[in-house]
Amino acid sequence: MKVCNKCGEIKPLTDYHKSKATKDGYAYMCKECSNTATNKWRKNNPDKAKQHHDKWRKKNLDNQRQYSAKWRKNNPDKVKKYVDKHCAKLRESTKERREMEIKMYGPKLPPMEAYFRYLRDEISD
Ligand SMILES: [Zn+2]
Repeated sequence: MKVCNKCGEIKPLTDYHKSKATKDGYAYMCKECSNTATNKWRKNNPDKAKQHHDKWRKKNLDNQRQYSAKWRKNNPDKVKKYVDKHCAKLRESTKERREMEIKMYGPKLPPMEAYFRYLRDEISD
């Protein structure tokens, strides 16, 4: 149990976020207070919050991209299976679906097909 610095209530440790900054390894304020504080901060700093979010998203996206590129390199067989399976599915796609895709994405390749083609190129070298 731990006393929240903000609301003063005694709450179990599971009600606190883990923190590296504190001695006991848990945050000074409970999750509830922490959420309230974050929401308040977001409300008062919408630009900063957006920036923060964009930065986080970009970092996350980069990590994800790097991770999946690495995974594909290490698992070419799985990628090939995946691509083959989905390419077969795409080939089976009906005329109606094709027309819908053209309506949605224009006469160019729909994104999924382009993506699979990209994957196939990547593993074929
Ligand atoms: Zn609290």
